Amino acid sequence: MPLVTLNELMKDAEAKNYAVGAYNVNNLELIRGIIAAAEESQSPVILSFAEVHIPLVPLEVIAPIILEAARKAKVPVAVHLDHGQDHRILIRAMKLGFSSVMFDGAHLQLEENIRRTNEISKIAKALGVSVEAELGKILRPEGGGDEEEEEEYDPDDIYTNPKEAKTFIENTNIDALAVAYGTAHGVYTKEPVLDFNRLQLIKDITGMPLVMHGGSGLDEAAYVKSIQCGIRKLNYYSNMAFEVANTIQSKLNANSDQNKKSYYHDLSKWAMEAIQEDIVRTMRIFGSAGKA
Ligand SMILES: [Zn+2]
Repeated sequence: MPLVTLNELMKDAEAKNYAVGAYNVNNLELIRGIIAAAEESQSPVILSFAEVHIPLVPLEVIAPIILEAARKAKVPVAVHLDHGQDHRILIRAMKLGFSSVMFDGAHLQLEENIRRTNEISKIAKALGVSVEAELGKILRPEGGGDEEEEEEYDPDDIYTNPKEAKTFIENTNIDALAVAYGTAHGVYTKEPVLDFNRLQLIKDITGMPLVMHGGSGLDEAAYVKSIQCGIRKLNYYSNMAFEVANTIQSKLNANSDQNKKSYYHDLSKWAMEAIQEDIVRTMRIFGSAGKA
């Protein structure tokens, strides 16, 4: 199965009313565990690398590994740069062979966000690469943040404004739009309140494949409702990363309770198994299982 673009995945998801999971990968266990889950589930998948994870592994080191895993997979895989803010990094990702990039200009004024999104999409379209852009403020920055430090806010000030979304779509050439309607990056410590009416309105006005960021740890009904309202790409990472760490910790504890030695390569194996299990679960909920 070839490496595919985000656009190709979004077309099928739109036609069949499901969402494709986009999972951050920053090491080999994540890449292999997620591909194994996609093959087991017969699901399309997006392997995503976040600009904030560059300190964990350089883009030039991990890109060929992600791309090779994608090309060898038995299901369609898009390779995507997540939350690119620096144009130079977006261009590096495209040159390395990523089939999709996200330009995150959500912190910019609308006109500037449009202008800079267009700079990227001009290059991307010439290279056959898909583009995701973002409008509105998703709570907490990518990589999580401190919920305690969150200030009180008025949803109308920070959630995606449907009229602005229309202006944005009419003036840019993108394949998917990340929207803010109450989700937050990182793991939730209190129940989020999602504005589904706003989400449905944005979908009706723009007709775009919409993207949920901060997709970790919502209850199943919130995912299903979001997909019914037009979410087609669902970013999921923190919850899995947390569960995998917990699994490894309990296995280490169990071994030490029984006076058994643990080796570093045991951790890799446990991690891959835990990743695969959690991702298979999400693919069933997102409706992408069986769609490859
Ligand atoms: Zn995000």
